[in-house]
Order: sequence, then C-alpha cells, then structure tokens
Amino acid sequence: MNYQLQCMCGSVRGLLSHAENGIRGMCYCKDCRAYSCHLGIESRTHDSLGGADFVAALGNQISITEGAQNIACISLSPNGLLRWYAKCCNTPIAGTPRNWKLPYVGLVRAFMENEPGAYESTFGDVKIRANTSSAKQPPPALALKSFVSVASLMSRVFAATIRGSYKSTPFFHSGGEPVVLPTVLSKDERVRASADAE
Ligand SMILES: [Zn+2]
Ligand SMILES: [Zn+2]
Repeated sequence: MNYQLQCMCGSVRGLLSHAENGIRGMCYCKDCRAYSCHLGIESRTHDSLGGADFVAALGNQISITEGAQNIACISLSPNGLLRWYAKCCNTPIAGTPRNWKLPYVGLVRAFMENEPGAYESTFGDVKIRANTSSAKQPPPALALKSFVSVASLMSRVFAATIRGSYKSTPFFHSGGEPVVLPTVLSKDERVRASADAE
C-alpha cells in the first residue's frame, strides 16, 4: 500500500510504498527536540512528554514526487544524524544515518499528515519507544510484541545493505553523497536549540 507524504504547505510531496511494513515509534531524545526547536516547530512534532511520533522505514520505500528542490538538510553536529526538512515551510521530513549503506529512515509524522485519521489507521499503535530516559516524564510501557517488529525491521535493513538496494533512496546520490549538502549547526545555534529543547 502506498501512503502519501506531504509537507505542511503541500509543496513537497512523496510516497511511502509498502506502508504496511512501516513501524510507528516515538523518540524522546533531546536531539530530536533540538532539531524541531531549531525549525521553530516543536509544538507540531512533540507531545507533552517530549516525544516525536515517527515511522521507521527503508530508503527504498520512499520517493519524492514533487518539490524536491525544497528539501534541505541540517545536522546537529559533524557526525550527527542527517535531519531532512522542507525549507518551504520548515516541516521536518526524516532522519537518516550519514552512511547511506544503512538505509534506515525515521519519517517524521509532520510529513505524513495527509488526511485526518490516516496516520493512525495505517500505522496503528506505537511499537517503539526510543530514548525514554530523555523523556520529560516516563512514557507508558509497550507490549512485548513490539520487539518482534523492531527485529524484523532491522533484518530488512541488513538485507538491503547486503543486496545493495540501499542505493535506491531519495536522500543520496548514486555515489553515496547526500542530495543536498547538510548544514551543521554552529555552536551557538546548537546551544540555543538544545536550551529550547529542555
Ligand atoms: Zn512546505
Ligand atoms: Zn530522537
């Protein structure tokens, strides 16, 4: 099943294929909050516990169909995750590792709001709670079956790495360079974003 992706202003659009394989999670880390604070959008991406809703997928499931010229990329540090966003409206798109051979993509929910209720009905319950030690308050516990989903995702990541299907991704050129040069936040910007993220 294809799932429509779009930034808040609608300029950047894409598709997530095999959406039924996407795994819904929440990330409570301070870096995700700092990324959203830097984009000035934390209230749209984070809940009261400091968690951001995302869907874990593989790069080869994602295609950008419109507005690719509006895609930009920041990183909180020289070796940090690449954090993609739509510069037309500062919608966070996704986080990816810097190494394209690890085709994991954490798609941010703000880029997945196509019609009311579609996100929940497609991805169901939260199955991963990451970095809960950085949550503002302890989040609810997960059912045991969650571990099974995460294990199945990781096995698909490794299979894609071995088969070379990581080369199919909207975020990297065929030689492995990011499609837009990531801007690493300056120390001042990082300090400000992290302070806002507390
Ligand atoms: Zn936009
Ligand atoms: Zn995070």
